[in-house]
Amino acid sequence: MERRFACTRCAQCCNRAPELELGEAAALADVFVLRLMLRIYSLPRALADFASDLPRDQASAEFYESKRLLSQFAAASWPAKAQRGTVTVDYVQYLSLSVLPLDLGTGTCPALGGDSCTIYPRRPLSCRSVPLHYSRPAVAAARELDAFVATPGFRCETGPDAPLVIASGIADPAILAARSEAAALAQSDQRWKTAIVKAMRAGAHGLPTPREVEASAARGALTASMLGPWRIAEATGLITRDATERLLATQCQLIEQYLRPPSGIATDQALGEMLREYRSAFPA
Ligand code: SF4
Ligand code: SF4
Repeated sequence: MERRFACTRCAQCCNRAPELELGEAAALADVFVLRLMLRIYSLPRALADFASDLPRDQASAEFYESKRLLSQFAAASWPAKAQRGTVTVDYVQYLSLSVLPLDLGTGTCPALGGDSCTIYPRRPLSCRSVPLHYSRPAVAAARELDAFVATPGFRCETGPDAPLVIASGIADPAILAARSEAAALAQSDQRWKTAIVKAMRAGAHGLPTPREVEASAARGALTASMLGPWRIAEATGLITRDATERLLATQCQLIEQYLRPPSGIATDQALGEMLREYRSAFPA
């Protein structure tokens, strides 16, 4: 069960922009071009339907921790049924709302400068919890770490001189701190998430409805403009109109910087559309 791990700062896992919690987005608006990400996770309602090759007590621990974490981070949840062979299984669908920076098609995170993270002291929680993402069960940490360090090209140190990161549970203080902070952030983001789901159900702000997100789940996550969520935060009293204007102005500056010739990045069209949308929201 024990695992050792040290980051050698090879930068190989900084191969794309990291997913952010909603509450992290504003502080990183000068770094990433932000998009709302909407995704469905499913878990059987009953342990008996949780398909796992693990021994019974481990499968049980993983099931209940998964359930707790999904509830903790979800914006909403609802029951669903699905066929498994000839059997109908009861599931719970969890709607996840997070922020995914626009992929600029460069093959690296926009915050990577050479081989270093240019925002290291304020890097997102998902980066601070590498290699054990805070949203995944601690009871599955050894399996997750093994899969992470086995990724081709990753040069993580796992030898006897590396610090112990998993003993009877996660033992790394930095990873534990990131997990606690993410849990606290999920709680403080809940009011914003609930207001976004309400707008989704009403078909407001150009957001997809929960059913549309569910219908596209097999093809992956959906993304949408962050303009709606910023407006909703403003209407809910979570941020001021001035703060929204500053956020949009910061995003516009960043987009303009990416579009400056010779840009050549693969997402020029998407960036151009975002710029027009943000500018029309606050005409000069
Ligand atoms: S924010 Fe920093 S640590 Fe995180 S993926 Fe980007 S470069 Fe890597
Ligand atoms: S792949 Fe491993 S060693 Fe390289 S930066 Fe990521 S965590 Fe560190």
